[in-house]
Amino acid sequence: MNAHKLIDGKAAAGRVLAQVKKEVADLVIDGINPCLAVILVGEDPASQVYVRNKVLRAEESGILSIEHKLSADTSEAKVLNLIHVLNSDPAVHGILLQLPLPKHIEETRALQAIDPRKDVDGFHSENVGGLSQGRDVLTPCTPTGCMYLLRETLGDLRGKHAVVVGRSNIVGKPMAALLLQADCTVTVLHSRSRNPQDLARQADIVIAAVGRPRMIDASWLKPGAVVIDVGINRIQDGDRSRLVGDVDTDDVLSLVSAVTPVPGGVGPMTIAFLMKNTVIAARQQFKAQQPSEAACLSIS
Ligand code: NDP
Repeated sequence: MNAHKLIDGKAAAGRVLAQVKKEVADLVIDGINPCLAVILVGEDPASQVYVRNKVLRAEESGILSIEHKLSADTSEAKVLNLIHVLNSDPAVHGILLQLPLPKHIEETRALQAIDPRKDVDGFHSENVGGLSQGRDVLTPCTPTGCMYLLRETLGDLRGKHAVVVGRSNIVGKPMAALLLQADCTVTVLHSRSRNPQDLARQADIVIAAVGRPRMIDASWLKPGAVVIDVGINRIQDGDRSRLVGDVDTDDVLSLVSAVTPVPGGVGPMTIAFLMKNTVIAARQQFKAQQPSEAACLSIS
Protein backbone atom coordinates (compact mmCIF):
# COMPACT_ATOMS: atom_id res chain seq x y z
CA MET A 1 0.00 0.00 0.00
CA ASN A 2 1.44 3.37 -1.04
CA ALA A 3 -1.11 5.62 0.66
CA HIS A 4 1.68 7.23 2.71
CA LYS A 5 2.91 8.80 -0.55
CA LEU A 6 -0.28 10.88 -0.86
CA ILE A 7 0.34 14.49 0.16
CA ASP A 8 -2.47 15.51 2.51
CA GLY A 9 -3.53 18.93 1.21
CA LYS A 10 -6.45 19.10 3.61
CA ALA A 11 -4.17 18.76 6.64
CA ALA A 12 -1.66 21.26 5.21
CA ALA A 13 -4.48 23.73 4.53
CA GLY A 14 -5.59 23.25 8.14
CA ARG A 15 -2.13 24.29 9.33
CA VAL A 16 -2.15 27.39 7.08
CA LEU A 17 -5.65 28.33 8.25
CA ALA A 18 -4.70 27.91 11.92
CA GLN A 19 -1.85 30.39 11.35
CA VAL A 20 -4.22 32.73 9.48
CA LYS A 21 -6.66 32.62 12.40
CA LYS A 22 -3.89 33.70 14.79
CA GLU A 23 -2.82 36.53 12.48
CA VAL A 24 -6.44 37.72 12.17
CA ALA A 25 -6.76 37.77 15.98
CA ASP A 26 -3.56 39.88 16.20
CA LEU A 27 -4.89 42.32 13.61
CA VAL A 28 -8.20 42.61 15.47
CA ILE A 29 -6.22 43.61 18.59
CA ASP A 30 -4.66 46.37 16.46
CA GLY A 31 -8.19 47.50 15.56
CA ILE A 32 -8.33 46.08 12.05
CA ASN A 33 -10.90 43.48 10.94
CA PRO A 34 -9.64 41.78 7.76
CA CYS A 35 -12.47 41.81 5.23
CA LEU A 36 -12.86 39.97 1.92
CA ALA A 37 -15.44 41.03 -0.67
CA VAL A 38 -16.48 38.29 -3.08
CA ILE A 39 -18.22 39.11 -6.36
CA LEU A 40 -20.13 36.37 -8.16
CA VAL A 41 -21.78 37.19 -11.48
CA GLY A 42 -24.29 34.61 -12.71
CA GLU A 43 -25.44 31.22 -11.45
CA ASP A 44 -22.66 28.85 -12.56
CA PRO A 45 -23.11 25.90 -10.13
CA ALA A 46 -19.36 25.19 -9.70
CA SER A 47 -18.67 28.90 -9.01
CA GLN A 48 -21.49 28.97 -6.45
CA VAL A 49 -19.87 26.04 -4.60
CA TYR A 50 -16.42 27.69 -4.72
CA VAL A 51 -17.81 30.98 -3.39
CA ARG A 52 -19.72 29.21 -0.62
CA ASN A 53 -16.54 27.40 0.46
CA LYS A 54 -14.49 30.59 0.38
CA VAL A 55 -17.03 32.47 2.51
CA LEU A 56 -17.19 29.55 4.96
CA ARG A 57 -13.39 29.39 5.34
CA ALA A 58 -13.30 33.19 5.82
CA GLU A 59 -15.85 32.97 8.62
CA GLU A 60 -13.93 30.13 10.30
CA SER A 61 -10.75 32.21 10.16
CA GLY A 62 -12.39 35.29 11.66
CA ILE A 63 -12.24 37.19 8.36
CA LEU A 64 -15.31 39.28 7.56
CA SER A 65 -16.80 38.43 4.19
CA ILE A 66 -19.19 40.37 2.02
CA GLU A 67 -20.89 38.56 -0.85
CA HIS A 68 -22.07 40.44 -3.93
CA LYS A 69 -24.20 38.08 -6.00
CA LEU A 70 -25.12 39.67 -9.31
CA SER A 71 -27.43 38.26 -11.98
CA ALA A 72 -25.88 36.84 -15.17
CA ASP A 73 -27.16 39.79 -17.24
CA THR A 74 -25.44 42.45 -15.06
CA SER A 75 -23.67 44.91 -17.35
CA GLU A 76 -19.89 45.24 -17.37
CA ALA A 77 -20.28 48.89 -16.32
CA LYS A 78 -22.18 47.81 -13.19
CA VAL A 79 -19.52 45.25 -12.27
CA LEU A 80 -16.75 47.83 -12.80
CA ASN A 81 -18.66 50.33 -10.70
CA LEU A 82 -19.00 47.83 -7.84
CA ILE A 83 -15.25 47.15 -8.01
CA HIS A 84 -14.53 50.89 -7.81
CA VAL A 85 -16.81 51.23 -4.77
CA LEU A 86 -15.02 48.32 -3.05
CA ASN A 87 -11.60 49.74 -4.03
CA SER A 88 -12.38 52.96 -2.21
CA ASP A 89 -13.93 51.34 0.86
CA PRO A 90 -11.21 51.30 3.56
CA ALA A 91 -13.07 48.53 5.44
CA VAL A 92 -12.56 46.12 2.50
CA HIS A 93 -9.04 44.65 2.25
CA GLY A 94 -9.45 41.97 -0.40
CA ILE A 95 -11.60 41.73 -3.54
CA LEU A 96 -12.22 38.41 -5.25
CA LEU A 97 -13.95 38.34 -8.61
CA GLN A 98 -15.08 34.76 -9.16
CA LEU A 99 -14.18 33.45 -12.63
CA PRO A 100 -15.43 32.63 -15.20
CA LEU A 101 -17.47 35.75 -15.94
CA PRO A 102 -20.41 35.83 -18.35
CA LYS A 103 -19.17 36.34 -21.93
CA HIS A 104 -20.33 39.98 -22.21
CA ILE A 105 -17.93 41.04 -19.44
CA GLU A 106 -14.29 41.35 -20.46
CA GLU A 107 -12.26 39.39 -17.90
CA THR A 108 -9.02 41.35 -18.22
CA ARG A 109 -10.78 44.72 -17.94
CA ALA A 110 -12.61 43.60 -14.80
CA LEU A 111 -9.49 42.11 -13.15
CA GLN A 112 -7.45 45.20 -14.00
CA ALA A 113 -10.07 47.39 -12.29
CA ILE A 114 -9.26 45.83 -8.90
CA ASP A 115 -6.86 47.87 -6.76
CA PRO A 116 -3.60 45.82 -6.87
CA ARG A 117 -3.32 46.19 -3.08
CA LYS A 118 -6.70 44.41 -2.72
CA ASP A 119 -6.01 41.88 -5.50
CA VAL A 120 -6.01 38.75 -3.31
CA ASP A 121 -6.06 36.49 -6.40
CA GLY A 122 -2.80 38.06 -7.64
CA PHE A 123 -4.14 38.43 -11.20
CA HIS A 124 -3.64 42.21 -11.67
CA SER A 125 -0.81 42.98 -14.11
CA GLU A 126 1.01 44.98 -11.41
CA ASN A 127 1.17 41.87 -9.22
CA VAL A 128 1.92 39.59 -12.18
CA GLY A 129 4.81 41.88 -13.19
CA GLY A 130 5.99 42.14 -9.59
CA LEU A 131 6.10 38.36 -9.29
CA SER A 132 8.18 37.99 -12.43
CA GLN A 133 10.58 40.65 -11.09
CA GLY A 134 10.82 38.80 -7.76
CA ARG A 135 9.15 41.65 -5.81
CA ASP A 136 7.12 40.99 -2.67
CA VAL A 137 3.57 41.09 -4.10
CA LEU A 138 0.27 39.24 -3.70
CA THR A 139 0.75 35.96 -5.62
CA PRO A 140 -1.95 33.68 -7.10
CA CYS A 141 -3.41 31.32 -4.49
CA THR A 142 -3.18 27.96 -6.30
CA PRO A 143 0.51 28.11 -7.25
CA THR A 144 1.37 29.62 -3.87
CA GLY A 145 -0.39 26.66 -2.23
CA CYS A 146 1.57 24.25 -4.46
CA MET A 147 4.84 25.88 -3.34
CA TYR A 148 3.86 25.36 0.29
CA LEU A 149 3.21 21.65 -0.34
CA LEU A 150 6.51 21.29 -2.22
CA ARG A 151 8.48 22.95 0.59
CA GLU A 152 6.79 20.75 3.19
CA THR A 153 7.55 17.64 1.11
CA LEU A 154 11.04 18.40 -0.18
CA GLY A 155 12.42 21.16 2.06
CA ASP A 156 15.03 23.03 0.04
CA LEU A 157 13.96 23.34 -3.60
CA ARG A 158 17.20 24.93 -4.86
CA GLY A 159 18.57 23.34 -8.01
CA LYS A 160 15.65 20.94 -8.49
CA HIS A 161 14.40 20.49 -12.03
CA ALA A 162 10.68 21.32 -12.14
CA VAL A 163 8.45 20.70 -15.13
CA VAL A 164 5.17 22.63 -15.25
CA VAL A 165 2.64 21.14 -17.65
CA GLY A 166 0.32 24.02 -18.65
CA ARG A 167 0.96 27.72 -19.21
CA SER A 168 -2.26 29.47 -18.21
CA ASN A 169 -2.13 32.91 -16.62
CA ILE A 170 -3.76 31.68 -13.43
CA VAL A 171 -1.75 28.50 -12.79
CA GLY A 172 1.06 27.51 -15.18
CA LYS A 173 2.86 30.84 -15.65
CA PRO A 174 2.79 32.04 -12.00
CA MET A 175 3.76 28.50 -10.92
CA ALA A 176 6.83 28.68 -13.15
CA ALA A 177 7.69 32.15 -11.78
CA LEU A 178 7.45 30.96 -8.15
CA LEU A 179 9.58 27.88 -8.85
CA LEU A 180 12.18 30.08 -10.53
CA GLN A 181 12.14 32.39 -7.51
CA ALA A 182 12.87 29.29 -5.37
CA ASP A 183 15.96 28.63 -7.54
CA CYS A 184 14.51 25.64 -9.38
CA THR A 185 15.43 24.94 -12.99
CA VAL A 186 12.09 25.30 -14.74
CA THR A 187 10.68 23.82 -17.94
CA VAL A 188 7.16 24.79 -19.04
CA LEU A 189 5.26 22.41 -21.34
CA HIS A 190 2.10 23.19 -23.30
CA SER A 191 -0.06 21.80 -26.08
CA ARG A 192 2.60 22.57 -28.73
CA SER A 193 5.55 21.08 -26.84
CA ARG A 194 7.43 18.30 -28.65
CA ASN A 195 8.18 15.05 -26.80
CA PRO A 196 6.59 16.28 -23.54
CA GLN A 197 6.92 12.88 -21.83
CA ASP A 198 10.68 12.77 -22.49
CA LEU A 199 11.09 16.26 -21.00
CA ALA A 200 8.88 15.54 -17.99
CA ARG A 201 10.80 12.31 -17.27
CA GLN A 202 13.88 14.44 -16.47
CA ALA A 203 12.08 16.31 -13.70
CA ASP A 204 12.42 16.04 -9.92
CA ILE A 205 9.11 17.90 -9.62
CA VAL A 206 6.14 17.73 -12.01
CA ILE A 207 3.24 20.16 -11.73
CA ALA A 208 0.19 19.10 -13.76
CA ALA A 209 -2.10 22.01 -14.66
CA VAL A 210 -3.69 20.93 -17.91
CA GLY A 211 -7.38 20.23 -17.38
CA ARG A 212 -7.27 16.75 -19.00
CA PRO A 213 -8.41 13.84 -16.86
CA ARG A 214 -5.53 11.50 -15.84
CA MET A 215 -3.33 12.58 -18.76
CA ILE A 216 -0.07 12.24 -16.79
CA ASP A 217 0.64 8.56 -16.21
CA ALA A 218 3.82 6.70 -15.22
CA SER A 219 5.31 7.18 -18.71
CA TRP A 220 5.73 10.93 -17.88
CA LEU A 221 7.70 10.46 -14.66
CA LYS A 222 11.08 9.38 -13.41
CA PRO A 223 11.25 7.21 -10.31
CA GLY A 224 11.12 9.28 -7.11
CA ALA A 225 9.59 12.41 -8.68
CA VAL A 226 7.28 14.59 -6.59
CA VAL A 227 4.02 15.30 -8.41
CA ILE A 228 1.56 18.10 -7.74
CA ASP A 229 -1.79 17.58 -9.46
CA VAL A 230 -3.64 20.89 -9.93
CA GLY A 231 -6.28 19.47 -12.29
CA ILE A 232 -9.93 19.28 -11.32
CA ASN A 233 -11.93 17.35 -13.90
CA ARG A 234 -15.46 16.02 -13.52
CA ILE A 235 -15.85 12.64 -15.22
CA GLN A 236 -18.75 10.26 -15.58
CA ASP A 237 -18.17 6.99 -13.72
CA GLY A 238 -21.09 4.69 -14.51
CA ASP A 239 -24.19 6.58 -13.48
CA ARG A 240 -22.29 8.89 -11.10
CA SER A 241 -19.96 11.78 -11.77
CA ARG A 242 -16.78 12.31 -9.78
CA LEU A 243 -13.67 14.49 -9.66
CA VAL A 244 -10.29 13.34 -10.94
CA GLY A 245 -7.04 15.20 -11.50
CA ASP A 246 -4.70 15.52 -14.48
CA VAL A 247 -2.57 12.70 -13.03
CA ASP A 248 -3.44 9.01 -13.12
CA THR A 249 -2.74 8.58 -9.41
CA ASP A 250 -3.17 4.79 -9.31
CA ASP A 251 -0.72 4.38 -12.19
CA VAL A 252 2.01 6.64 -10.77
CA LEU A 253 1.80 5.83 -7.05
CA SER A 254 4.38 3.03 -6.97
CA LEU A 255 6.86 5.12 -9.02
CA VAL A 256 6.76 8.55 -7.37
CA SER A 257 8.02 9.60 -3.95
CA ALA A 258 4.91 11.74 -3.35
CA VAL A 259 1.79 12.92 -5.19
CA THR A 260 -1.21 15.09 -4.31
CA PRO A 261 -4.60 13.37 -4.53
CA VAL A 262 -7.71 14.85 -6.17
CA PRO A 263 -9.78 15.77 -4.26
CA GLY A 264 -7.94 16.64 -1.05
CA GLY A 265 -4.66 17.88 -2.52
CA VAL A 266 -4.22 21.31 -4.09
CA GLY A 267 -7.91 22.36 -3.85
CA PRO A 268 -7.97 23.08 -0.09
CA MET A 269 -4.63 24.92 -0.39
CA THR A 270 -6.08 27.39 -2.89
CA ILE A 271 -8.74 28.53 -0.41
CA ALA A 272 -6.26 28.58 2.49
CA PHE A 273 -3.95 30.91 0.56
CA LEU A 274 -6.87 33.14 -0.39
CA MET A 275 -7.34 33.68 3.34
CA LYS A 276 -3.60 34.17 3.82
CA ASN A 277 -3.54 36.78 1.02
CA THR A 278 -6.48 38.61 2.61
CA VAL A 279 -4.55 38.87 5.88
CA ILE A 280 -1.39 40.01 4.05
CA ALA A 281 -3.42 42.65 2.17
CA ALA A 282 -5.10 43.85 5.39
CA ARG A 283 -1.75 44.14 7.19
CA GLN A 284 -0.14 46.02 4.30
CA GLN A 285 -3.05 48.47 4.03
CA PHE A 286 -2.95 49.01 7.80
CA LYS A 287 0.80 49.69 7.70
CA ALA A 288 0.37 52.11 4.78
CA GLN A 289 -2.07 54.14 6.88
CA GLN A 290 0.40 54.52 9.76
CA PRO A 291 2.47 57.70 9.76
CA SER A 292 6.04 56.91 8.65
CA GLU A 293 8.94 57.18 11.12
CA ALA A 294 10.34 60.12 9.18
CA ALA A 295 7.01 61.96 9.37
CA CYS A 296 6.83 61.32 13.15
CA LEU A 297 10.37 62.69 13.62
CA SER A 298 9.56 65.83 11.66
CA ILE A 299 6.42 66.40 13.77
CA SER A 300 8.20 65.92 17.13
P1 NDP B 1 -6.27 26.26 -18.98
O1 NDP B 1 -7.23 25.52 -19.85
O2 NDP B 1 -6.35 27.73 -18.92
O3 NDP B 1 -4.79 25.86 -19.41
C1 NDP B 1 -4.44 24.54 -19.71
C2 NDP B 1 -3.00 24.49 -20.16
O4 NDP B 1 -2.70 23.13 -20.46
C3 NDP B 1 -2.73 25.30 -21.42
O5 NDP B 1 -1.55 26.05 -21.24
C4 NDP B 1 -2.57 24.25 -22.51
O6 NDP B 1 -1.62 24.57 -23.51
C5 NDP B 1 -2.04 23.06 -21.72
N1 NDP B 1 -2.33 21.81 -22.40
C6 NDP B 1 -3.50 21.39 -22.92
N2 NDP B 1 -3.35 20.17 -23.47
C7 NDP B 1 -2.07 19.81 -23.30
C8 NDP B 1 -1.30 18.68 -23.64
N3 NDP B 1 -1.84 17.64 -24.30
N4 NDP B 1 0.01 18.64 -23.31
C9 NDP B 1 0.58 19.68 -22.64
N5 NDP B 1 -0.10 20.79 -22.29
C10 NDP B 1 -1.41 20.86 -22.61
O7 NDP B 1 -6.43 25.60 -17.53
P2 NDP B 1 -6.05 26.20 -16.08
O8 NDP B 1 -4.60 26.44 -16.00
O9 NDP B 1 -6.99 27.26 -15.71
O10 NDP B 1 -6.43 24.93 -15.18
C11 NDP B 1 -5.76 23.71 -15.34
C12 NDP B 1 -6.47 22.67 -14.46
O11 NDP B 1 -6.33 23.08 -13.11
C13 NDP B 1 -7.97 22.55 -14.70
O12 NDP B 1 -8.34 21.20 -14.49
C14 NDP B 1 -8.58 23.42 -13.63
O13 NDP B 1 -9.89 23.00 -13.28
C15 NDP B 1 -7.62 23.17 -12.49
N6 NDP B 1 -7.56 24.23 -11.50
C16 NDP B 1 -7.54 23.85 -10.20
C17 NDP B 1 -7.44 24.78 -9.20
C18 NDP B 1 -7.38 24.31 -7.79
O14 NDP B 1 -7.66 25.06 -6.88
N7 NDP B 1 -6.99 23.05 -7.55
C19 NDP B 1 -7.41 26.21 -9.48
C20 NDP B 1 -7.33 26.54 -10.90
C21 NDP B 1 -7.42 25.56 -11.85
P3 NDP B 1 -1.84 25.81 -24.55
O15 NDP B 1 -1.50 27.04 -23.78
O16 NDP B 1 -0.86 25.51 -25.63
O17 NDP B 1 -3.27 25.74 -24.98
